[in-house]
Amino acid sequence: MNGQKKSRAKILVSACLVGERVRYDGMALVCKDRILEYWQQEDRVLAFCPEVAAGLAVPRSPAEIIGEGDGTAVLQGLAKVINRDGKEMTEQFVIGARKALEQVMAQSIALAVLKDGSPSCGSSYIYDGSFTGVSEAGKGVTAALFEENGIRVFNEHQMAEAAAYLTRRVRNAARV
Ligand code: SF4
Repeated sequence: MNGQKKSRAKILVSACLVGERVRYDGMALVCKDRILEYWQQEDRVLAFCPEVAAGLAVPRSPAEIIGEGDGTAVLQGLAKVINRDGKEMTEQFVIGARKALEQVMAQSIALAVLKDGSPSCGSSYIYDGSFTGVSEAGKGVTAALFEENGIRVFNEHQMAEAAAYLTRRVRNAARV
């Protein structure tokens, strides 16, 4: 054990963005961003997939949120998650979100960078529940639970903003 090892603020990142083949189609969607690569070299990244953590298979039938509202409404019991085969998946998506939040709390994660558009990880848009490729503004279930608990969520196109937020967090912590 190296007692000298510095503890660095960590970032939870959607596992598919760092090359894990965990998406519904069995693929990854790697985010090639120098900031993310730098964080990985610094050992700051915790890769996490809420849907796999909830026990869903890879590959799996894609899912979308149906009914009024987004992931926030799912957490309030006002909307549901269904997959393309018509099976309700709400419980699994809520379980995945809670498992992600447990990791954030246990590992003092400073922020999250999540894959936009996903019914779990989306933070600016999701799909509208028609399975026709139509998107709408809204959050996925995990992103909504993070924001409810004060965890800042950025998407893969906001790496510079995420880095600036991390720098502010680290600087403020150093002042305490
Ligand atoms: S749930 Fe999130 S981490 Fe998992 S495949 Fe979908 S977008 Fe990627």
